[in-house]
Amino acid sequence: MSRSPFVGALSGLVLLAAGCGDGNGFTPAPEAPLGQGLSWEEFRAQVYQEPDTGIFIVDGDVPVLSEALLREFYENSVRSGQLIVHNVGGQDAKWSDTQKRSLTYCVSTAFGTRHARVVEAMATATAAWEAAADVKFLHVSAEDSACDALNDRVVFDVRPVNVFGQYLARAFFPSHARPDRSLLFDNSAFGPTGTWTLAGITRHELGHALGFRHEHTRTQVTGCFEDNNWRALTTYDAASVMHYPSCSGTQTGDLVLTQKDIDGARALYGFVYVTETLSGSTWEPGIVHYSPFSVAPGSTFDVEMTGTGDPDLYVRFGASPTLEAWDCRPYEYSAQERCTLVVPAGVNTAYVMVPGYGADPFFHLNIRYVPFSGFTTGPRWAQWSTYVAQGTYRDFGTYDVKPGTQFRVDMRGLGEETDDPDLYVRFGAPPTFDTYDCRPYIVGPHEVCDLTVPAGQSKVYVRVHGYTGAMIDVDIDYTAP
Ligand SMILES: [Zn+2]
Repeated sequence: MSRSPFVGALSGLVLLAAGCGDGNGFTPAPEAPLGQGLSWEEFRAQVYQEPDTGIFIVDGDVPVLSEALLREFYENSVRSGQLIVHNVGGQDAKWSDTQKRSLTYCVSTAFGTRHARVVEAMATATAAWEAAADVKFLHVSAEDSACDALNDRVVFDVRPVNVFGQYLARAFFPSHARPDRSLLFDNSAFGPTGTWTLAGITRHELGHALGFRHEHTRTQVTGCFEDNNWRALTTYDAASVMHYPSCSGTQTGDLVLTQKDIDGARALYGFVYVTETLSGSTWEPGIVHYSPFSVAPGSTFDVEMTGTGDPDLYVRFGASPTLEAWDCRPYEYSAQERCTLVVPAGVNTAYVMVPGYGADPFFHLNIRYVPFSGFTTGPRWAQWSTYVAQGTYRDFGTYDVKPGTQFRVDMRGLGEETDDPDLYVRFGAPPTFDTYDCRPYIVGPHEVCDLTVPAGQSKVYVRVHGYTGAMIDVDIDYTAP
């Protein structure tokens, strides 16, 4: 496919001008716009108008009833688009809702000693797009030994070619038929490729495989205009993974997805939701705050609480909730509460708080959301403030953790220095008096457990026993998977 060759150059990095030219002989008109996306006239000329009704059809099958409304659609959706999707005959070249979650591929054993490297680069690159939007790639390794363009047991094949550096790699668009759906890597892709990794090059190629065009074809000022057969999904992004740096691009390191790439992929394929669970018990006047969830504007932030007693659920965007300020507080007389909210534009954090009411409440939160930038991995915290009565114990949560990271619990007393709560932390199961991975057992209310999560462990339990009654703050810092 010569339309979007990823052209390597003598230096291994400088992309040849030929790689930016259009491969189908289309010559851009000299008056083609320099701004973002299509001009109104170009757009208007492309839109189909039903001869009988005069209705305009956009996005394949969406009717727009008048020219005034069409102009409005253009201003809102076309003029200031971003990442761009390839168009064939005015239709988006994209995978269907069924296909997008089953993009199977094989990696040819003809790569020889490079086979493992390609498999790893594919895994890294597919993970980046899968974290961005609702698409799923699947390596069918059983087909690796029969991995050619005719193998129809996979959606596409990944094979080596030798084009002597004409391009590093090249892919295909979703509109292509099976024999044309190959992702080919030239010898030159294996280095040296400057700041680009094989995974970076693969991220760019998989962008094409998902239907994305070169970002630099949006405007003539890049010097790399190709054609106008595309539809904008976001505003112009000079740093896009789909933008050649040599075409006035600004991404100088490896080829990685930008926030606009993520937004554009979501605009085409939808959000990918992740689920996180948190639990514990907060007796009155106890309260727990969780670190903000990174959330994508326009997605749904859904927190479902179950449990016993009467804990209350508070959710707020952009700042921690207080007892007086929140965006959602169901305030039911039980633990069954739910907040389902659409994240407002311009907002990318959501905060959750659970104060306990009455005695003996236990809560479990099931939180479903779309991380703003795709991945959830990162530091998280929980801040508890509550009372532990003498002779009782309280659970300060169960946490999903990542092996090799630190898990730190800092307990401080809010009452007398003679208060004596005891902290217990255990991996894999709730601690008991006899079984734990950390128990400082210090006289007084200040105790710390600072642990490295061992290999094979994915959950940590925190419990405090009241040797005497004590009002305490418990700060927990950890890394979520
Ligand atoms: Zn390309």
